[in-house]
Amino acid sequence: MISLDQPLRPTLGTAAAKRLATELDLHTVGDLLRYYPRRYATRGELTELDALAEGEQVTVVAEVLSARKRDLRGKPGSRPRSLLEVVVTDGTGQLTLAFFNKVTYHARELRPGRRGMFAGKISLYRNNRQLAHPAYEMLPDGGDQQDRVREFAERPIPIYPATKELTSMAIARCVGLVLDQLDEIPDPLPEELRRRHHLRGLREALERIHRPVEESEIGPARHRLKWDEAFVLQLALAGRRREARELAATPRPRVAGALLDAFDTELPFTLTSGQAEVGRTIAASLESHHPMHQLLQGDVGSGKTVVALRAMLQVVDAGGQAVLLAPTEVLAQQHHRSITAMLGPLAAGGRIDGAEHATRVALLTGSQGARARREALLEAASGSAGIVIGTHALLQEHVGFADLGLVVVDEQHRFGVEQRDALREKATGGRPHVLVMTATPIPRTVAMTVYGDLDVVALTQLPEGRSPVATHVVPARDKPRFLSRAWERVREEVRQGRQVYVVCPRVGDDGAESADEGAVGVPAADEEPTRRPPLAVVEVAAELAQGPLAGLGVEALHGRLAPEEKDAIMRRFADGALDVLVATTVIEVGVDVPNATVMVVMDADRFGVSQLHQLRGRIGRGELPGLCLLVTDTTEDTPARERLDAVAATTDGFELSRVDLEQRREGDVLGGAQSGRRSSLRLLTLLRDEELIGKARDEAVALIESDPALTSHPELATALRELLDEERAAYLDKT
Ligand code: ADP
Ligand code: MG
Repeated sequence: MISLDQPLRPTLGTAAAKRLATELDLHTVGDLLRYYPRRYATRGELTELDALAEGEQVTVVAEVLSARKRDLRGKPGSRPRSLLEVVVTDGTGQLTLAFFNKVTYHARELRPGRRGMFAGKISLYRNNRQLAHPAYEMLPDGGDQQDRVREFAERPIPIYPATKELTSMAIARCVGLVLDQLDEIPDPLPEELRRRHHLRGLREALERIHRPVEESEIGPARHRLKWDEAFVLQLALAGRRREARELAATPRPRVAGALLDAFDTELPFTLTSGQAEVGRTIAASLESHHPMHQLLQGDVGSGKTVVALRAMLQVVDAGGQAVLLAPTEVLAQQHHRSITAMLGPLAAGGRIDGAEHATRVALLTGSQGARARREALLEAASGSAGIVIGTHALLQEHVGFADLGLVVVDEQHRFGVEQRDALREKATGGRPHVLVMTATPIPRTVAMTVYGDLDVVALTQLPEGRSPVATHVVPARDKPRFLSRAWERVREEVRQGRQVYVVCPRVGDDGAESADEGAVGVPAADEEPTRRPPLAVVEVAAELAQGPLAGLGVEALHGRLAPEEKDAIMRRFADGALDVLVATTVIEVGVDVPNATVMVVMDADRFGVSQLHQLRGRIGRGELPGLCLLVTDTTEDTPARERLDAVAATTDGFELSRVDLEQRREGDVLGGAQSGRRSSLRLLTLLRDEELIGKARDEAVALIESDPALTSHPELATALRELLDEERAAYLDKT
């Protein structure tokens, strides 16, 4: 009898164990049993021999129709070779199997009339689809043929994600051997929880998912095993939240009659009711003796910055400092500019024109000049800067603060769990409050999972007076006239005093991308090998300035420019001195120029859905209606085009984030630890399992409250430890 943590070798033998280890990274009995079938073949599917495409790795069930041995003419003098050609059928289609070795043996097995399962890669030979030396297993014949057929029809055949060296059938055989010898195994899910949610026992679920007798057994088995994944993950998050709650932080209560009050009086607009309410929640959390860990969600343009700034001012009033981290240098610079402007005399601390209570706002970026940097570091360390704004590069560096009270992370969508951990580690000693802002709204399940260790608040409405943005797809290759129309439209807009963004996926010239440009989140499967390289900022800017946009003020902005240059260009665009800004995704997040009304995205199909939504958020920020043109060479009815159509069809960020999540691998969303082959999330999908994840979260919170160390649930404690180890390993892998 064997248990889950035992190695596979004693049960399966050296060869099979080694193969499972090298091919699939499976080492223990538990590893193998958590390697689930991807799907199940049923008889219904077996009639589809005709649909098999070349290059596909397939498993089919079919009956042998004929078997023919042929002698192959080799070179004179070489050993005579023969070939066995077997034709199999499922009643509709046919497939040829070709064997070059052990011909006699195979001929004995593959007698006409027998039925078997065949696995291999479909190739084309003289226009016939064939499987060359497939792995196979014959189904027993004889007995009552009717019964056979019925059992055959009913019993689902598990199909495992296979490799060339390790077929689905071989994996099923190994799993079967292991299941046959498996001892009683402890169930990590507490019995009461199982009863409450009608969950199968672990042993039974494993048996049913690997060796179902009927299709109806698979669903409940999967459901139970999904619970394992969701529950342990939620335990980890609940534990983390609880730990954070126990830490000490300096309370930063609101001080009347100081900076924040002065700022509120000067505010040129009234806060939306959402901003006011979220503001109250955050203000209260900042008064706590434990660190706030708050996630602020809000669609593009919902006005998160002012919410964050008000929180920072509360902390400054209470004697602390606040740091605002932005994902790009352009955004850090812009925040610095706009926050300084919004504060006016309130940001002129220590100067003659400074207001009472005034503080200072320092900017720290990775590539600024030595002198500016020294000054900013000094202001941070001495405490004379109440607010320090910088890029995430700050995390890696030894920036000292006099009294760090609040860390605000802007546009979090580029950052995963690991980065947040780094942030928290930086925070040791001071234990500041943390406010994370997402640029893109995220589905609730992602919030519960990826950000499950944060408390969530959301801004659900946009400030009043926003104009809608109309979005159109411009098929540049099919309808070149549409594109020339687009440039005419740009000229018209500029004539009316408006400004325009043109976005390209690449910088240009030597092709290297700067860190600021970020990864383009397009699934690789869409890439055709023959595609031309993506359009580049430098080239497009030059072409536009000489061609369709001649005579307008056109400039290029990208991450390879020096920081001062970037800042100067952005400044000129913001001041209206430039008409057209040709840029990479450096302008993706946060950039705020209300007079810009048109955005033309070149090669729009090279961007991910969320990215396009973010980009589009740069226009329609003032009272003027916006126009967004998605220029693409893709043809209709391709996934890439469908993605663009989805973006054109709605401006609802929540809707688009679902589209995005469906198109991307979930691993991208989850970050390293929860993705990958040895992932803790195998069955669970964030979009479809919302209800289950919600229940698991409630159960996890309750259990952690009553038994924080899981002393009465040793199995769970072990599972949790394994998950955390895996996470830590993934984090170390990355750094
Ligand atoms: P995001 O949530 O995308 O970061 P911002 O904070 O950049 O949005 O805000 C977008 C624009 O809306 C800014 O120009 C900001 O000054 C403005 N804004 C914020 N709140 C309000 C409000 N209550 N009324 C009017 N305009 C507002
Ligand atoms: Mg913003």
